[in-house]
Amino acid sequence: MGALLGPAEIRELAATFDVTPTKKLGQNFVHDANTVRRIVSIAGVTPESAVLEVGPGLGSLTLGLTETGAAVTAVEIDARLAAHLPTTVSAMQPDARLTVVHQDAMQVSSEDLPVAPTHLVANLPYNVSVPVLLHLLATFPSLVRSLVMVQAEVGYRLAADPGSKVYGSPSVKAAWYGSWRIAGQVSRQVFWPVPNVDSVLVGFDRHEPPGDEQLRSRVFTLVDAAFQQRRKMLRQALSGVLGGSARASEVLEAAGIAPTARGEELGVDDFVRLGRTVLAAAG
Ligand code: SAM
Repeated sequence: MGALLGPAEIRELAATFDVTPTKKLGQNFVHDANTVRRIVSIAGVTPESAVLEVGPGLGSLTLGLTETGAAVTAVEIDARLAAHLPTTVSAMQPDARLTVVHQDAMQVSSEDLPVAPTHLVANLPYNVSVPVLLHLLATFPSLVRSLVMVQAEVGYRLAADPGSKVYGSPSVKAAWYGSWRIAGQVSRQVFWPVPNVDSVLVGFDRHEPPGDEQLRSRVFTLVDAAFQQRRKMLRQALSGVLGGSARASEVLEAAGIAPTARGEELGVDDFVRLGRTVLAAAG
């Protein structure tokens, strides 16, 4: 097994590369080998996996991924970190199969990656974790499994069921792509610098999407409208996107949903049924 980065190595690399972690890019680096091995093990990465990592930073998780023998593509927005990563990894694991892409993960497309990724494994930048996840799941249908570390509130939201307090539009959108579960807690102490939020690991398994791109787009519009005014009944919350509250009531009833229900009571299947009804009515 190759070596991983501990607290001394992380500080040394940051000093050598003259890297001061920035909040804006969510730069909290993991300096605990046990946490890295735990993530890699839960993610189910094998030598056959094609792993996409977002935000490799100084390489803590990257080294855990490459030591499995998997092919890893790491997408990093920070030019300094992207430039130094190949040197760090090849010095510690000369046989590592790593491609580094200097790119914003929210812009990345299949042309930027050498292979279609099967697994997404990342310690995500906290301020953009949901849009990054949704972009990657939409862009890479080959991604069948994922294990990401996110801010605890975001993780519970992704894995929430209808009716729960934290259930919201990210929960429904995430459920379009597959099933989500909380896979563990992570102590703040494994990061440098120590963040002021708690973190959790979230697991994902893809399922067949409930419909095509036209339906997905319609469903997401309905979801955004339903949760923008989450305390309102659906006939009011959706009146803007369905042509008035009387029309919204008709469409909701046709989809078998009470017009007096609230968005937080609906699962992704209900939103899909509603989306199909709206599309059918539009002809
Ligand atoms: N994976 C490393 C680790 O575990 O130590 C670093 C994780 S740190 C929480 C987040 C990383 O994501 C940073 O390296 C940051 O520069 C990078 N990052 C932030 N926004 C990004 C974006 N939009 N696209 C790609 N990388 C991004």
